[in-house]
Amino acid sequence: MPESLLTVAYLFASVLFILSLGGLSTQESARRGNLYGVVGMAIAIIATLLHPRMTAYGLSAGAVIGGAVVGAWLAARVAMTAMPELVAALHSFVGLAAVLVGVSTYLNPGVELSGGAHAVHAVEIYLDVAIGALTFTGSIIAWAKLKGSLSGKPLLLPGRHALNALVALTIIGLAVPFAMAPGASALPYLLVMSVLAGLLGVHLVMAIGGADMPVVVSLLNSYSGWTAAAAGFMLSNDLLIVTGALVGSSGAILSTIMCRAMNRSIWSVVFGGFGAAEGAAPAPGGPQGEYNIIDVDDLAASCRDAKSVVIIPGYGMAVAQAQAVVASFTRKLREAGKTVRFAIHPVAGRLPGHMNVLLAEAGLPYDIVLEMDEINGDLPATDLVLVIGANDIVNPGALDDPSSPIYGMPVLETWKARTTVVLKRGRGAGYAGVENPLFFKENTRMYLGDARGSMEKLVAAL
Ligand code: NDP
Repeated sequence: MPESLLTVAYLFASVLFILSLGGLSTQESARRGNLYGVVGMAIAIIATLLHPRMTAYGLSAGAVIGGAVVGAWLAARVAMTAMPELVAALHSFVGLAAVLVGVSTYLNPGVELSGGAHAVHAVEIYLDVAIGALTFTGSIIAWAKLKGSLSGKPLLLPGRHALNALVALTIIGLAVPFAMAPGASALPYLLVMSVLAGLLGVHLVMAIGGADMPVVVSLLNSYSGWTAAAAGFMLSNDLLIVTGALVGSSGAILSTIMCRAMNRSIWSVVFGGFGAAEGAAPAPGGPQGEYNIIDVDDLAASCRDAKSVVIIPGYGMAVAQAQAVVASFTRKLREAGKTVRFAIHPVAGRLPGHMNVLLAEAGLPYDIVLEMDEINGDLPATDLVLVIGANDIVNPGALDDPSSPIYGMPVLETWKARTTVVLKRGRGAGYAGVENPLFFKENTRMYLGDARGSMEKLVAAL
């Protein structure tokens, strides 16, 4: 394929990626957005394989087939609840690939450059490897934290900000002799810097507390995009630059949106230590009172009496895979003339948009699924709120307990409704590991059991 046609193909693929991102921004168009992405990626891969300088077909076939098989296998068996771990693991691959491609480009640049051109190219390689190494180790730590292999508690080393600044300055400082050295003679600088950037990645993510992990996942997504963009400059590949910039900036925008939703500043999350209040006593883990239990018949009666019902789904609904029975419950109530709406907290579940995906999968109409800000004001006038497997996102302590690790995060103020019924299995804490005073309020009732089984019984009772 001639270079000019290749450029056109890359441009077309870039446009499809932009359309894909646009499509993914609403549930109605998400499927179409996905399709644009798939077609764009197929065009990018085919055009690359037809590149005039492409010769290593055997190696590429091995990489593409191997990658496709592993990807399909992972995607088929991953539970929705394990998606964040998978996403973090995939980001680590992007980081590792950037480091490997960067080092190999340095060792084998293809064309001999000298003077300013050599220095600029060296800086491109340096940037690619630095962001790649940071993304690689940071993502591995995020994966281990999300999986539960590492504690969600932030690691707060004394003088950690100074330590980070020192490492960052050393990384910047090493760039000078690296860029000045002729040929590939400065490999040791590159390798030392990769180790430092890797350690910085470990330290930055270790310092982030469990409650801020949603933002970390999208931040690492953003880093992986910038790594790809840096690789694009290094390899003079326009498509990589555009795609990397799209991923980098959309990840940064998502991180900012999530920070706003959690009332955190992006810098406080980036530099860590905000997932748990420093110096505050650990939040009490034990129960603070007795649960007011409600049985299925009384709950069915409350449903029949209520005119307006709001459902707040959380991580437990995903664990129980209760979305289909929640959808049939919703249809039943709507047929009986009741107003039923869903309230979605921005960090409900374990992935941005987690609840929206599950509700869409269950075929619920989009217009009854509302964001937290849209529905919080209506909760005081709501007869019945069903909290299905949610905990942190309905914790009043986030508003009035400064010692809570989630203090400052806006929550769904369900306790203002006439009655709240919480569906959960027992006294298990949420992701942040703190007690929830909502469960002991006078107008709260607890309907205990696995969310799916409980909802099936409720639908049967209705
Ligand atoms: P939580 O993790 O706070 O609470 C989930 C609750 O569901 C638990 O208390 C558990 O109690 C209950 N539960 C678990 N399994 C079942 C089941 N089978 N049936 C019924 N109940 C069940 O979830 P939320 O959605 O309220 O909050 C999300 C949390 O995750 C936030 O802290 C957020 O910061 C964090 N997070 C969010 C990410 C995102 O991008 N959305 C990413 C990473 C973290 P019990 O054991 O008693 O049943």
